[in-house]
Amino acid sequence: MNNKPLLIKNAWLCQIDSGTVNPFFGNMLIENGIITQINSADVSIQQKDFDIIDAQGRVVTIPNVNFHDHIYSRLAKGLPSLGSMQNFTEILENLWWKLDQILDFAMIKASAYMAAVESIRYGVTYIFDHHSSPLHTIGSLKILKDALSEFSIRNVLCFETTDRNGEQLKLEGIKENQEFFLHNTDENSESVFGLHASFTVEDSTLSAVRNFLEKNKIGIHIHLCEDESDRSMSLQKYGKLPVQRLLDFNLLNDKSILVHGVHLTKEEFDSIKSIKPALAVNLDSNLNNAVGTPKFENIPEEIPILCGTDGMHANIPRSQKQMFLIMRNQKLSFDKAFYLFRKMYFDQLNFIKKYFPDFLSLQVGNRADLIIWDYVPPTPMNQNNFFGHYVYGILERQVHSVIQNGKVLMNNFNLTDVDETKFNNYIYEQGKRLAKGLTQPFPKGRA
Ligand SMILES: [Zn+2]
Repeated sequence: MNNKPLLIKNAWLCQIDSGTVNPFFGNMLIENGIITQINSADVSIQQKDFDIIDAQGRVVTIPNVNFHDHIYSRLAKGLPSLGSMQNFTEILENLWWKLDQILDFAMIKASAYMAAVESIRYGVTYIFDHHSSPLHTIGSLKILKDALSEFSIRNVLCFETTDRNGEQLKLEGIKENQEFFLHNTDENSESVFGLHASFTVEDSTLSAVRNFLEKNKIGIHIHLCEDESDRSMSLQKYGKLPVQRLLDFNLLNDKSILVHGVHLTKEEFDSIKSIKPALAVNLDSNLNNAVGTPKFENIPEEIPILCGTDGMHANIPRSQKQMFLIMRNQKLSFDKAFYLFRKMYFDQLNFIKKYFPDFLSLQVGNRADLIIWDYVPPTPMNQNNFFGHYVYGILERQVHSVIQNGKVLMNNFNLTDVDETKFNNYIYEQGKRLAKGLTQPFPKGRA
């Protein structure tokens, strides 16, 4: 945390106020990680010894949140072809389920460093991650937590429990979720219970997870109906569709994160809406895997809509913009698309408070987590047209500066206190090891 107070002056402070975003042009003083004063720009703050960022009319908002990331996939760039990837199942079998078996702690740490640096550049300082490294399960979440903590990124972690690698590795996955929740969570690092997807998780596993959830009142983080095959395979293997299995095992609550939901029917959404689990939408991934896109009109009001990247990158601003564009492409009117987009903005705010109750509204007394966008409004901005500026202006610009808990992580596009050359060298060394590992004969579970 900075010792000196920090003054951000000449900024459009986009404060959250009674369900609206209310832009206010002024100065903000941050002391010991807390927003202590907000004044209009013509009122000078009576204090002398502080650091100053002159925003020069730029926009300040709450930070971005990635509600579904796979940090473990960060090094997967330019890798050798490992087999056919003609459909969703082949993409899993011939890329991700081979890659995750190669990962060791050094590669996981390098992946987390890469994710952290990318995330800060896009103003993302809160990450919900869904991790998989089956041959190095126990202790893997602590590696992620420690690496993200080095960059002051708050996180909600889980390990992807699955039966696809056999009984022993499944048990290790369950144990890693349990141990992390019980012994490693704190005010900056929280957890959920990670499950891969219905089609790779046996009934006995769901039953074991339920007991832990009920005892500890935590949520699950699971892929749900990403591809049509989740439905057909669940039906074939377990005689039930994925949503019905989650309901029958009583695994859902209002802290749950259901990921994708591309192939959920309106009736299925309706069957879970009273429980209020959140839906994390990841459009870049859906488009890349050619699995379709969620039908926004089918999502009931009660289900919070969140935005994630599914490990493809850290660019939450672009992913949010894409949500708006896909809504329009699905023929939702401008009014309806803006309504849903605005709902998503507040849904994310309300949902994250279940994990971090001190998440801010950019008001005096709040924790000082905020980002300055390289956007100076070209027309007047107020609470009635904020989302017009947000969708067409703010989201199209780079993030200029990032402040987390009063600490400046990035100032004027430059990361502070980060030796990028050192990190890049480390990432490259581990990336080379990963690429080489993928050319060796594959381990099948643990020998
Ligand atoms: Zn995912």
